[in-house]
Amino acid sequence: MDRGAAKGMEAIMQGNRNATPGVVIVGAGQAGARAAEAVRGAGYAGTITLIGAEAHMPYERPQLSKATLLEDGAPVIMIRDGEGWRALGVDVVPATRIVTGDAGRHVVVADDGREFPYDKLLIATGTTPRRLPAVEAGPLPVLPLRSIEDAQALRRHLAPGVRVAIVGGGVIGLEVAAAAVKAGATATVIEAAPGLLARALPPVVADFVKARHEREGVTFRLGRAPVGQSAAGVEIEGGETVPADVIVVGIGVEPELALARSLGAEIDQGILVDECGRTSVADVFAAGDVASRFCPWNGRVLRIETWANAQNQAAAAARTMVGEAMAYRDPPWFWSDQYDLNIQVVGHAAAPGTTVLRGDPATGRFSALTLAGGTVIGAVTVNAPKDMASLRRLVAAGRPLSAQEAGDTAFDLRKAATR
Ligand code: NDP
Repeated sequence: MDRGAAKGMEAIMQGNRNATPGVVIVGAGQAGARAAEAVRGAGYAGTITLIGAEAHMPYERPQLSKATLLEDGAPVIMIRDGEGWRALGVDVVPATRIVTGDAGRHVVVADDGREFPYDKLLIATGTTPRRLPAVEAGPLPVLPLRSIEDAQALRRHLAPGVRVAIVGGGVIGLEVAAAAVKAGATATVIEAAPGLLARALPPVVADFVKARHEREGVTFRLGRAPVGQSAAGVEIEGGETVPADVIVVGIGVEPELALARSLGAEIDQGILVDECGRTSVADVFAAGDVASRFCPWNGRVLRIETWANAQNQAAAAARTMVGEAMAYRDPPWFWSDQYDLNIQVVGHAAAPGTTVLRGDPATGRFSALTLAGGTVIGAVTVNAPKDMASLRRLVAAGRPLSAQEAGDTAFDLRKAATR
């Protein structure tokens, strides 16, 4: 516990936890949980209420498309258990869905009518998986992947000989494909777009990832949207049926905006926030997947659906709520594990621009840097985490880098990050 948290806890122990409503956080995922910790960490001594729709205490989500799918009974990593939250003086209210609020009265309301008043409110309601009604109707089981229950249910299907059709060639689709073949199942990825992970990866890396999956036995149907299902499998455009026993849908997510709308917060894809997490409504903040902000690397407002953003944007918003304003300016960053590939992406790696390869993809270890205007605006590393450490700094700082330096493995990227 840092000094701020210790001070906050001391005040609580001395009975200073006042009777005012305090801080209410709606959404007990990565963003909500880390915000609760950061509010206390800032030395705040009042009441902190963390309300979540799921029945569980807050847990880590990256494991759900990785360890939970790869081994039976993989332990679920909780951010803290009930005792841990009590020790921090955070009231966790699970299994409670907040549906509306009143900014004038400073209150949010659950679907069972319970009201929770707030002094400061953080909305961290996240997202829900996009649905595909045409494919969901039929005899085959259709599984989403967002919660512990979803991941454990999917794991039970991953067995030798099972034919898994995966709709969506994004991070969920590819991590599920890798887990399926590892379990001895067969996997076919159906993607409406012509390429994989088109919004995240430059084509050279997407092609590399696809080739690796194909070597592992995964089949792809790209540029063909799914249109329905039958007992035989998933029907796709062009009249083909992809044979399947089970269907996984990973076609992106939609933000949970009902609460923000009811409070009158400005929406632009997500809840529009400034770099400190403030919304357009007084005393209301937002962070994580549900929030959108101007992203200089992409040159537009967007929601950033990553674990790191949920964690760090929430921490900055939390500090701003109860203490000094704190800006969050990190470039987007995420990782994906598929087979023995550790893929990390920073900034806008798929931006149109010059993509410079650093290292040889044939070795299974390389980076791809996207340059624009003499700087690196995005990058992907494959099994090259050391490059990524420097690239995160380089992309954040916008330091100059020439194409020649970018592609020269003898050139120390750390130097460029500090010059
Ligand atoms: P993504 O947005 O990563 O990928 C969805 C993919 O499905 C895109 O390629 C999209 O194409 C495609 N798609 C959209 N509609 C259709 C359709 N009708 N038929 C076929 N394909 C379609 O979302 P995921 O569902 O993979 O992941 C959900 C969330 O979970 C994301 O926020 C993600 O970041 C997170 N997650 C992160 C992981 C990580 O960081 N390693 C791992 C797992 C999940 P298009 O781009 O053209 O719309």
